[in-house]
Amino acid sequence: MPTYDFECQDCRKKFELFLSFAEIASQPTIRCPECASQNIQRVWTAPVMWMQGERTLSAGSKAPSAGCGCNR
Ligand SMILES: [Zn+2]
Repeated sequence: MPTYDFECQDCRKKFELFLSFAEIASQPTIRCPECASQNIQRVWTAPVMWMQGERTLSAGSKAPSAGCGCNR
């Protein structure tokens, strides 16, 4: 089951919830486990960072080399 990260906008508590796609689609009311606030923001973490990391990695492996012969 996918894990979703949330952050409470009131007390800045971060927490994870296991929710199915159906549960997410029905937009359930999520409460902060710390202060019971409903002012919760979804935090997008792993997928975005993973894609950026891979892009940086492939760009780094194509670092400019001295022997390209382009200024001949
Ligand atoms: Zn809270």
